[in-house]
Formats: sequence, structure tokens, C-alpha cells
Amino acid sequence: MIGVTVLGSTGSIGVSTLDVLRRHADQFRVIALAANSSVEKLLQQVTEFRPQYAVLVDPPAAEQLRQRIAHQGLATEVLEGADALEFVASLSQVDAVMAAIVGAAGLRSALAAATSGKRVLLANKESLVVAGQLFMDAVEQHQATLLPIDSEHNAIFQCMPANGGKEGVKRILLTASGGPFRSVPVDDLHHVTPEQACAHPNWDMGKKISVDSATMMNKGLEVIEARWLFDLAPQDIQVVVHPQSVIHSMVEYVDGSVLAQMGNPDMRTPIAHALAWPRRIDSGVASLDLFEVARLDFEQPDFKRFPCLQLAYDVVAAGGVMPAVLNAANEVSVDAFLNGRIPFSAIPRLNQAVMENAGQMQPQSIEHLLEVDQRSRRQAEQFIPQMV
Ligand code: NAD
Ligand code: MG
Repeated sequence: MIGVTVLGSTGSIGVSTLDVLRRHADQFRVIALAANSSVEKLLQQVTEFRPQYAVLVDPPAAEQLRQRIAHQGLATEVLEGADALEFVASLSQVDAVMAAIVGAAGLRSALAAATSGKRVLLANKESLVVAGQLFMDAVEQHQATLLPIDSEHNAIFQCMPANGGKEGVKRILLTASGGPFRSVPVDDLHHVTPEQACAHPNWDMGKKISVDSATMMNKGLEVIEARWLFDLAPQDIQVVVHPQSVIHSMVEYVDGSVLAQMGNPDMRTPIAHALAWPRRIDSGVASLDLFEVARLDFEQPDFKRFPCLQLAYDVVAAGGVMPAVLNAANEVSVDAFLNGRIPFSAIPRLNQAVMENAGQMQPQSIEHLLEVDQRSRRQAEQFIPQMV
């Protein structure tokens, strides 16, 4: 039996992960489930999966869950606070950790899984954006196994040389759907609502990544993620807009071969791949019907329409703490947009303002990066009133 901790179990990736695990209860045992504050959802999951631990970061929510669990006579121990995330990511009986918390809030626990030498199933791309080098060093030093859950990176992983190296790889073609606003007139983007931004044409995801897809910040974060996962120069990562989201990314080799991984847009495929790797297990995803798909289209990315994509290339080139600055600014921007405090078109402007105001430094430690993260968030907050 493989012991699994699911961090962010109540979210979109968490729920898909539990769906795959449910199909293979003979092979995987859920040791811990963790989320921020959703008592009802976590209680339901605890009732079904009977984990040893359940974590809610928010203490009042954890207390509520504790009482409900006691009332039902379940044996699950409820823990609270952010430290508990690291605890359940490092337990000796845990073999694999699904890191599916959203944002920089997921960094410490994903890193704890890496430093405990676990199989780290990384959905939380922000970890690599904020702390790429330090994160990859921890994986190597503690002999963790890092498997990407992000569909593009999982596709690239599947198309890369099987020995884990990059011999013969010429470049990566990172596909992007283009999001809900790919062909909306640029002038109309100022007025789009959170509901419109979150209505992704192909994927059903959490709110933050949905807005990131609409600004294409998501693809920018993914360029940075790919840079670290596959040790590539940013100029060897080409974004390709592919509206059908059937090809999940490609690897081009020096001999002219281009390998693609394809499938229906359903995160259970990369999740099942990473859970069972190097074996294959059923994910519950329907067969790809190519006659239904009928055609595959490709376009150049439009950097004018999606300035956030350019900002990502800028911070990769700048290195140092700049990716952490952009990530923090963007988390504040997205939240402000979702809460009606800034218009959609202000997201890239706010991100850029924070970047221009930040001082460059080389990250010394995770603590240092988390300080930069907090400082950048405060600066972003200060710029919000100017963003009309
Ligand atoms: P979501 O908003 O649906 O779920 C987020 C989860 O994180 C929830 O369980 C929530 O309780 C938990 N959480 C939020 N803040 C927390 C905090 N401060 N401390 C502890 N837990 C906290 O998000 P999602 O769409 O499932 O995305 C999760 C991660 O996976 C993100 O990094 C996202 O970029 C990445 N990802 C998601 C998809 C997708 O299809 N949804 C695809 C690729 C990558
Ligand atoms: Mg992706």
C-alpha cells in the first residue's frame, strides 16, 4: 500500500486526486487530508477515506471539524495551523504527497515533502516560481522524486527522454488554450467580470488559476515552472496557443521529431500518471475521440493582449527574487480583481508596478523569499487605489 497525503484536498485538484485514489483503494491509503477552512467538504472526505489526520489551517474551522468528527465517532485526528501541513507532508508512513494548495501558501509544505524525500506530486506551480533553485536543490539533496501534475509539464515529462536527462532535446512547445479572452477585442477586456474570467472554455479549475488563465499569467508561471523542472533556458521554451487543449505540450528533438502527449482536458490523467509512475492505472478519463475533435489549431501568443506573459519572461531573465515578487504581486492582483477592487486590465499594470518598485537580490533562503513575498504583497496593496 502506498501512503498518500493530499494537501489542498478540497480544491479542484484535490477532488480529482481523491477520485483517482477512490478507484484504486487496493493500492493507495490516504494518510492525511489538508485544506484551509472548508469544514463540510473535508468532513465528507474524512468520512469516506478515514485518514489518520485531517488538517484545517484555520483554527476555528479545525475546532468545528474536530467536534463533528468526534460526534460521528471517527478516529481521525484533527490538526490546525500552517505547521500541521508540513507535519503531514513529512510523516514516515507517507510515500507520496499531492501538493495542491493554491499560491505561495503551498510552498513550505511542498518543500517539506521534498526534504523528507517523498514522491512529490507537484500541482502547486507557485512553489517553483517563488523558490525554483532552492526547491530543486532540496529535491536533489534529499533524493525526492518530483513529478509534475500541471498538465503541460506532465505532458513534457512523458515526452522527455526516459532516462531523466535531456539529451537530444532541442526545445519545448508549451501549449496554451488562450483562455476565455483569446479573441475578445482588447478594448473590451477592461470591463470583463470575474464570472467571465473564471468561465474557462476547456478546463474546470479553482478561481485563482482560472483568472491566471484569462490573463495568461498562468502560462507565464508555467514557463518558469518548466525552466526549473526540465533545466531549460527560457528561449528554449516556446508558448504555442492551441485552443482545443488536446495536445498538452510537446518536446522537439534535434533530429526533427516532435513528441506530443494528447488526451481529453481532464486533470485525472496527469494525476493518475504521477500517482502510479512508472506504471499506468485507470484514471476514469474517457477515450479521446479524434473524430469529435476533428481539427487542431495553433497560433502565436499575443504578448500585447496578454502583458502578463511578457512579465514572466522578464522575471526569468532577471532571476534572483524577481519571480517571487511577480508571483506575490499577481496573487494580490487576482484577489483584488475577484473582489471587485480593480478592473481586469489592471492586473498586469499592478504586477508591473510592484516589479518596478522592487529591489533585486539573490535569494539566500526560503525565509528570505517568504519575506520578499510578504513585502511585495504589502506594496501591491498600496498600489491598488491607483489602479482604475
Ligand atoms: P482550488 O482553489 O480549487 O483549491 C485550493 C486548495 O488549497 C483548497 O483545498 C484550499 O482549501 C487550499 N488552500 C487555499 N489556501 C490555503 C492556505 N493558505 N493554506 C492551506 N490550504 C489552502 O485550486 P486548484 O485549482 O485545485 O489549484 C491548486 C494548485 O494546483 C494551484 O497551484 C494551481 O495553479 C495548480 N493547478 C491546478 C489545475 C487545475 O486544473 N485546477 C491545473 C494545473 C495546476
Ligand atoms: Mg497547466
